[in-house]
Amino acid sequence: MASVKVAVRVRPFNQREIDMDAQLIIQMQGKTTGILNSKANARDENIRYKEFTFDYSYWSHDNKSSNFASQEMVYNNLGTEVIDCAFQGYNACVFAYGQTGSGKTFTMMGSPENQGLIPRICKALFEKMSENSKLGTTHRVQVSYLEIYQERVADLLGGRDNSSLKVREHPKKGPYVQGLTTCLVTNYNHIQDCMNRGNSHRTTAATNMNDVSSRSHAIFTITFVQAGYCDGVPSETVSKIHLVDLAGSERADATGATGQRLKEGAHINKSLVTLGSVISALAEVSADKDGQKKAFFIPYRDSVLTWLLKDSLGGNSKTIMIAAISPADCNYGETLSTLRYANRAK
Ligand code: ADP
Ligand code: MG
Repeated sequence: MASVKVAVRVRPFNQREIDMDAQLIIQMQGKTTGILNSKANARDENIRYKEFTFDYSYWSHDNKSSNFASQEMVYNNLGTEVIDCAFQGYNACVFAYGQTGSGKTFTMMGSPENQGLIPRICKALFEKMSENSKLGTTHRVQVSYLEIYQERVADLLGGRDNSSLKVREHPKKGPYVQGLTTCLVTNYNHIQDCMNRGNSHRTTAATNMNDVSSRSHAIFTITFVQAGYCDGVPSETVSKIHLVDLAGSERADATGATGQRLKEGAHINKSLVTLGSVISALAEVSADKDGQKKAFFIPYRDSVLTWLLKDSLGGNSKTIMIAAISPADCNYGETLSTLRYANRAK
């Protein structure tokens, strides 16, 4: 199977962009996303317009476009793959990447009326489990929710003093966070409580970009255990689903950051740069058609983010990246850099 899938999703104009009479610079057709540089010399087509192809290109503001994608469609395309993967016993990771305000949290969490991938995946998981229970399989679901801020791990489901937990690596089970709270959940409402509790603990700080922006990476992890009998012998399959809302990808200088904010920017970028290198190295491995596994070096341990996700990136795991972008000319630079980042991951 193709182990890395990449989708791009453009959000509608926000009020700030409407107020400044921003121009639409994104075009989508089929799998292709194009970006127009309205300031460039019109005669040089290569500078004026750039095009990228992804597994999916999702449009938002006008539901007449054939690229329009509702939350439900995004789930149907990408979320169902995660569910299939988990029931087959494989691990999966979904990342939302993009500048602050581009739609990462909308895609991952959504709102109560318009739920995103995480609640839909959780719901489907419990529905499918209750079907499978009739066939004699028993299940156990555990969730944890953590935040990486300045290369430190904070427990979003624990008490107040859990803001700097250690990452360790078990020789067989792989990397884990020491002392991280895991909640055993038995139904969807229960998992939703955990989600809400964690969301309310996320670290946020105001930046010059006028919105409250997320400066940390949030990882919601579902550990899914299926137990049954295989040829009369009891067997257990464990799979992990990591759902990751990454910190804003904007360059530190773009938000006029100084001091603490600038330091954050450096840490955020370190994780994002390493994630990009890891995913593109994995994409190269899977593109290696002669079947011979070349010894690509995958720099998992260069950031806490990639280290923690090591057992769910590569191998038989499914990796999905959703690059969230603004439609407006004022975000041209950030949007182009997001498209390039996503393009490297294919
Ligand atoms: P981020 O998490 O990347 O900072 P958000 O997900 O908070 O960005 O999105 C910023 C705003 O844009 C929110 O008000 C959100 O509801 C809206 N938005 C984002 N993506 C979409 C979309 N695809 N369709 C409709 N509204 C969206
Ligand atoms: Mg967000």
